[in-house]
Amino acid sequence: MSWEPVIGLEIHVQLKTRTKMFCRCELGFGDPENTRTCPVCLSHPGTLPVPNAKAIEWTVKLGLALGCEIAPHAVFHRKNYFYPDLPKGYQISQYDQPLCTNGRFLVPGPDGDAYVGIVRAHLEEDAAKNVHVGGAAGRISGADRTLVDFNRGGTPLVEIVTRPDLRSAEDARIFLQLLRQTVVELGISDAEMEKGSLRFDVNVSVRPEGSSELRTRTELKNMNSFAFAARGIAREIGRQIEIYEKGGEVDQETLHFDPTREDAPPLRSKEEAQDYRYFPEPDLVPLAPARDLVERARAELPELPGQRIRRLERDYALPFYDAEVLSGLPALAALFERTVAAGGDAKATSNLVMNQIVAAGVDPAVVDGLELAKLVEARGRIPRAALDEAIAASGTPGFRADDYTADTAITDAEELRPVVERILEGNPSQVEAYRGGKTGLLGFFVGQVMRELGGKANPKVVNELLREQLGL
Ligand SMILES: [Zn+2]
Repeated sequence: MSWEPVIGLEIHVQLKTRTKMFCRCELGFGDPENTRTCPVCLSHPGTLPVPNAKAIEWTVKLGLALGCEIAPHAVFHRKNYFYPDLPKGYQISQYDQPLCTNGRFLVPGPDGDAYVGIVRAHLEEDAAKNVHVGGAAGRISGADRTLVDFNRGGTPLVEIVTRPDLRSAEDARIFLQLLRQTVVELGISDAEMEKGSLRFDVNVSVRPEGSSELRTRTELKNMNSFAFAARGIAREIGRQIEIYEKGGEVDQETLHFDPTREDAPPLRSKEEAQDYRYFPEPDLVPLAPARDLVERARAELPELPGQRIRRLERDYALPFYDAEVLSGLPALAALFERTVAAGGDAKATSNLVMNQIVAAGVDPAVVDGLELAKLVEARGRIPRAALDEAIAASGTPGFRADDYTADTAITDAEELRPVVERILEGNPSQVEAYRGGKTGLLGFFVGQVMRELGGKANPKVVNELLREQLGL
């Protein structure tokens, strides 16, 4: 029997608003512990939460980018649980009336569009950070004590829940990268996994291929890189298939994936919603985002990365791979478009920008499109060394392509012929091999001529002369 993986994601994105979700403490990653706190986020008796308007506006924006409907009436709930990182004993979150629901997020692929369903995106406050001391790698197991840093407590946090629409670890990786790029380009989060401003959990189950049932799923927590998640997912898929094939059943549980071990030890059995005893937050009125706020946010949405991939493919007849690479770096995509607008051939420009500009470490934002278009045009005509030199200099102020494309290369056949003859005379065995059918040696001869002339020869003319002399 062949098995189909069914994967859903729960993603947490910290918003980079100036202040926390329900108080006026400023956010500050990396600040000394417990210096960004006040009576509200430390839950002193008698304090009251005041919602951050910017966080609500940004969640609406993100919801729209995810293709969600924005609820005209959303409610904050208390999610009750006891843990040292939660001084109130509950987290202000959203439950059955979230701000954004029922979305559809475009994930372009080489074989067409895929859409990942978005169940919901809601706004909540982050918990404080537990710092485990004394154990290996800062993990709780083996630690001898745990400290709490309340700086993070109360940071605005958006939770995004997808439908189980992903079918492989690779699908999940592509979706997450596109989602990350989207929130970064919206300017609402750094979405840096190393800092914890983007975190996600993965739900995994498997089912017989062709079936539409949803079997028991397990949850993988503690994912802190895309590569890491892909490995964890692949391993969990394999584990579940093995259990079913041996006639067993998968238990619903949360697994703590540790890259240093080959297994993922169970953390706890999954809580049910009723365990959290959700009830509406009595200290906050329901959220009713104004229609004009929603419409303004919709009008202000920039082109999203997924849409940009499709547009680059369509408008410039680029292969999917090129469109994806360019779109992944907006400044690179912009340079590509400036250059083509100035007359550069689209595919040649794409190659030059994706490979040589990136390899030379040139900042694409400062390159002049018109000058780069001249280099694209000259690329087959000037020596490779001159092109490389020009590209390396293309980001410097006042760069002029003409300084490099002016005919530094020797194009005069009469001047080149003696050099070509000398090279052929000096390599009789290669000449014989070439005439015997090893025509791939042409490149060797071109290289020898170029070396002789310090790269300053027109490769096209050298090619013609070699073919003429070799008699083929
Ligand atoms: Zn505070």
